[in-house]
Amino acid sequence: MEKVSKNYGKVVAVKDADFVVDDKSFVVMVGPSGCGKSTTLRMVAGLEEIDEGEIFIDGKLVNNMHPKDRDVAMVFQSYALYPHMTVYDNIAFGLRMRKFQRDEVDKRVLDAANILGIDDLLKRKPSELSGGQKQRVALGRAIVRNPKVFLFDEPLSNLDAKFRVQLRAEIKRLHQSLEATTMYVTHDQVEAMTLGDKIVVMDKGLIQQIGSPDDVFHNPRNKFVGGFIGSSGMNFFDGTIASAGNGVVCEIAGVVFRLPAEKAERFASDSGRKVIIGIRPPDMIVYTGETSEPHLKLKLNLIELLGGYSQLYAQYGEGEVCAHCEERFKASIGDEIGLGIDLEKAHFFDWDTEENIFLIG
Ligand code: ADP
Repeated sequence: MEKVSKNYGKVVAVKDADFVVDDKSFVVMVGPSGCGKSTTLRMVAGLEEIDEGEIFIDGKLVNNMHPKDRDVAMVFQSYALYPHMTVYDNIAFGLRMRKFQRDEVDKRVLDAANILGIDDLLKRKPSELSGGQKQRVALGRAIVRNPKVFLFDEPLSNLDAKFRVQLRAEIKRLHQSLEATTMYVTHDQVEAMTLGDKIVVMDKGLIQQIGSPDDVFHNPRNKFVGGFIGSSGMNFFDGTIASAGNGVVCEIAGVVFRLPAEKAERFASDSGRKVIIGIRPPDMIVYTGETSEPHLKLKLNLIELLGGYSQLYAQYGEGEVCAHCEERFKASIGDEIGLGIDLEKAHFFDWDTEENIFLIG
């Protein structure tokens, strides 16, 4: 995609999308509803016209190419199966339209059904299938075409949690065995993290960051990416840098936290600078007893026991802070608890631009 933009009237759906999906790779576009993910995918498929920019598939400019000539196969959230046709005929349909020989159609359909574990469903109609089975049929229909690119638009969103996780793993395995170039759209960051070789994080029509799952998790470019990626979200605190004695500190809600060496060095001449501090729940420190370490005293609102750890929510201003605690946390709702902030693991965002201060230099 080179500088691709698309507006609907005054709505900017996608602005200057510019990235490469490498051959055989799995790229996930992720972001909140309405951020422009589907529009991007549909432009690749040829289902939406492009206002500006160029899209190439396998080196060929496809801006004006008809969808059926692009050699892409798309899987939708809604399955889009023909209700009056059997599973076999649904999978075979695209091949028959393209005038494939009968033997070849049969071979491809049976192979795909075998890969997807739906061999015994071939005579059924879509109304006799579960959601997960329907989506397998839709996958089968894409696989038999052996396209240059697979396009997935929220394929798991209509499924129950259990089937969603199961089919997610199957899609990953499928990609590993077929090595087919894939673009996948989801609003679910867990799906993005588990499936993607590369993740494109979008917000408000703009690409916010492109990177490996590891990279976007550990090095979020800005506050939005930090808050969006990661399973229990990031806590954000307003902080002020100050110098104290021979060190540099950060003041959060009136509590003074010492900055670790590398960060102290970066902020050495920034006394008085306001920053946004982002820190994930596992990186909060929960003090179960008295401590002399600096900490916030916050009122406990909720405890969730999640097996291996507890997830605590405490009141912070008008919002809440979330923290993980490994042991079973013994406190009552309404108690005041002590929460420390591990600044070694914290991310520092610029007050005005909200960009990650340690990535923009
Ligand atoms: P996402 O897939 O991230 O949920 P979309 O790409 O569907 O987002 O939409 C991006 C923006 O474009 C949204 O503001 C949406 O309302 C708008 N939009 C999408 N399709 C149309 C359309 N056919 N007509 C008008 N506006 C549209």
